[in-house]
Amino acid sequence: MEFFEKLGKKASATYKTAAEKTSKIASETKLKMKIGDKKSKIEDVYTEIGKKVYQKYVLDGELNIKNDIDEELKRINELSDEIKEYEKEILALSDMRECVNCKNVIDKYAKFCQFCGAKQPEEKIEEAQVPEIINENENSEETKTDEDTENNE
Ligand SMILES: [Zn+2]
Repeated sequence: MEFFEKLGKKASATYKTAAEKTSKIASETKLKMKIGDKKSKIEDVYTEIGKKVYQKYVLDGELNIKNDIDEELKRINELSDEIKEYEKEILALSDMRECVNCKNVIDKYAKFCQFCGAKQPEEKIEEAQVPEIINENENSEETKTDEDTENNE
């Protein structure tokens, strides 16, 4: 019984690793779409600002409209921050991250930045990753048969 349990676990772990890869690509695609969406929203805000600047200039003959576009400026900052978060998530998917100091892209687990030498906050290594199982020559058909046998008992 224990033997079957082990086989089942190995098979599901192999499946999980492959599925993780697929879901990583899917997640990256989704994040990139979200970034694209935010960027087009920023473009919309720029258009809005342009309109306001133009109208203010036409009506009052001046370009000092800092107070009029305060909301739009805040919105752009918010959207930019959201884009930065998505970009970080994309980096994390490929085990990379930004240096806390110079913002260059470095290894997720690097203790120091290779560009500026700044010390990085410690990153926990995820225990869920079990790549060594991929290399085992486990026949998936065989596993299936064993499972069937188990079910028939
Ligand atoms: Zn750095």
